[in-house]
Amino acid sequence: MKDCNSCGKCCTKYSNGGLSATANEIEFWDICRPEIVRYVDDGKIWMNPDDGQQLELCPWLNKVPGEDKYLCGIYYDRPDDCKYYPVTIQQMIADDCEMLEVKDFRNPKQAQKDLDKLMVDSRPPLE
Ligand code: SF4
Ligand code: SF4
Repeated sequence: MKDCNSCGKCCTKYSNGGLSATANEIEFWDICRPEIVRYVDDGKIWMNPDDGQQLELCPWLNKVPGEDKYLCGIYYDRPDDCKYYPVTIQQMIADDCEMLEVKDFRNPKQAQKDLDKLMVDSRPPLE
């Protein structure tokens, strides 16, 4: 299991309707980060502030100039849905996540343990 290389595949895949925010997160943005709450509509993210339609791409996904790498523009205030990713090895395989190594495909159980260790500060443990 490698560290995340910021390839941006997960953000690109899930930003057009595959992410959600909790009521608490939205309330926090409303009070402290009004520029973020502009992209929330009826509890859904990420929505076009002009017409209320679902955006195709997260507005906070920034390409690093000259590199095939992406950074989150609201990293410390991003929703838990983003903080918790990746959750399972199956999800990573389906998403072609670049943290996976050949050995992880060979032994997904061990890979899940390695992932959980890596994510210990980012999300609650899997049941
Ligand atoms: S908020 Fe950040 S982590 Fe979440 S989809 Fe957008 S760029 Fe990615
Ligand atoms: S798909 Fe995997 S390697 Fe790429 S940015 Fe997401 S977590 Fe990182």
